[in-house]
Amino acid sequence: MRYFSLPSADGSTKYVYDIYGATLPKGKGISHHSYKNIDSFKIAQNSPNKLRVVIKSKQKPLNRHAYSGKMLVIPLTYGKEASIAGRTISNIENKKRYTIVIDAGHGGKDNGATCCGDRNEKKIVLAIAKKLRVKLNNMGYKVYMTRGSDFFVQLPKRTEFANKKRADIFISIHANAAPNKKKAKIFRGIEVYYLSPAQSKRAKEAAEKENSVMLEHKDYYTKNAYLSLLNREKIVESHKLGLDVDKKILSSLNEYSGHVENGGVKPANFWVLVGAQMPSILIETGYITHPEEGKKLLDSYYQSRLAKGIAEGIERYLKNKRR
Ligand SMILES: [Zn+2]
Repeated sequence: MRYFSLPSADGSTKYVYDIYGATLPKGKGISHHSYKNIDSFKIAQNSPNKLRVVIKSKQKPLNRHAYSGKMLVIPLTYGKEASIAGRTISNIENKKRYTIVIDAGHGGKDNGATCCGDRNEKKIVLAIAKKLRVKLNNMGYKVYMTRGSDFFVQLPKRTEFANKKRADIFISIHANAAPNKKKAKIFRGIEVYYLSPAQSKRAKEAAEKENSVMLEHKDYYTKNAYLSLLNREKIVESHKLGLDVDKKILSSLNEYSGHVENGGVKPANFWVLVGAQMPSILIETGYITHPEEGKKLLDSYYQSRLAKGIAEGIERYLKNKRR
């Protein structure tokens, strides 16, 4: 929530509370309320993701607000309390709990996949990650990034960071590359991976490519250590998260740029996901080696559509989880 106050021409003050992620019950617009010592009290949907409460009063600052259960409580000067109860606020309460760590793949000395002169995985995925951060923030989530600019981060540090932040979700963002020129014309589409021992050939290839930066630390991931970090529940949850994100990315992109190929949600052995104590997925946002898709990945609006899909997928997963 954000709070600020503004002086009013008639000598009173406007106290504004912006509550992110909250929505008014269906069919309700601006509502007015009257209280003793308060000139006006208004609640309105300021934007799809922002509920605004405005209190106009000549009283001293009303900035001692707090959450109490599912209520936003604003103590008034004469001992009375104005509160907005129930459904309206429940949305925020739930969202406030969730922390999401976004991991833009590669960075610094590690370019990731490159193609055609200007197509650079580390730059593309950072741009998408930043757009995703804004969208998730606007939805009311707490968001951290493993890197916010162009520097190198070791793979184990990325999930370590998410664990330290007690993240509820870890999202690693990448772009794929075909193994050779002939396949560059064919390979395209979205792929979403979660960590699990079973894997297909395509999944193995993608994992080998993304893991290559850590070859010199291979013993960090001895098979036993890796398996001991996995548990059935985490695999199932990561898979569910992957399905929701994959679905929403496809609908977001299809609305904008026609058919996008769905590579599906697959288990794989990505080292960057090892050690995550929360549901975690790695998204290959497309093939930078594909003549058309590679070009699209550089387009800022296309990147926004990708970010929108990812954010909506996360939202859907978390909503289903709450039920
Ligand atoms: Zn990558």
